[in-house]
Order: sequence, then C-alpha cells, then structure tokens
Amino acid sequence: MPIYEYTCPDCDITFELMKPFSEADKDASCPRCHKQARRIMSPCVCLSKNGSGEMSRVSGTGSSCASCGASSCATCGH
Ligand SMILES: [Zn+2]
Repeated sequence: MPIYEYTCPDCDITFELMKPFSEADKDASCPRCHKQARRIMSPCVCLSKNGSGEMSRVSGTGSSCASCGASSCATCGH
C-alpha cells in the first residue's frame, strides 16, 4: 500500500498514512485535532519523529540527500 503524506494547518504538523490506492483521494483527519488534513503531493516523503513521538517533516540543510534534505529518508532509500 502506498503511503500518503498529510499536513494539518491548525496544528502545523505533518503525518503519513498508509492506505489503498483507491482511497488516495479521500480526506484524512488530523491525529491531534481530528480536523480535515490536506494531502501533500510530494515525490519524496521525509518524516522523522520529534520528542513527543509525533511525525514531523524533516527540514534543514547539511544532509546527504539533495532531493529531500533529510539524512535518513525511507523514500529515497538512504
Ligand atoms: Zn490538527
């Protein structure tokens, strides 16, 4: 099953959901506030867990991946 990335504008968090392709266009709800989250169309999903155990987007520079900016990216395979 493909993994889709969503973002919640209210909580300013990013999370990923694994769902069937047939449900790819369906909305997802934010795990924190349960409001509707927006799906992110990204060729490279780079997520890491922060201190509170939530998934958040990796940002910043100084990494080895030019395409996604993360040092450990499951999607890019490094
Ligand atoms: Zn939220």
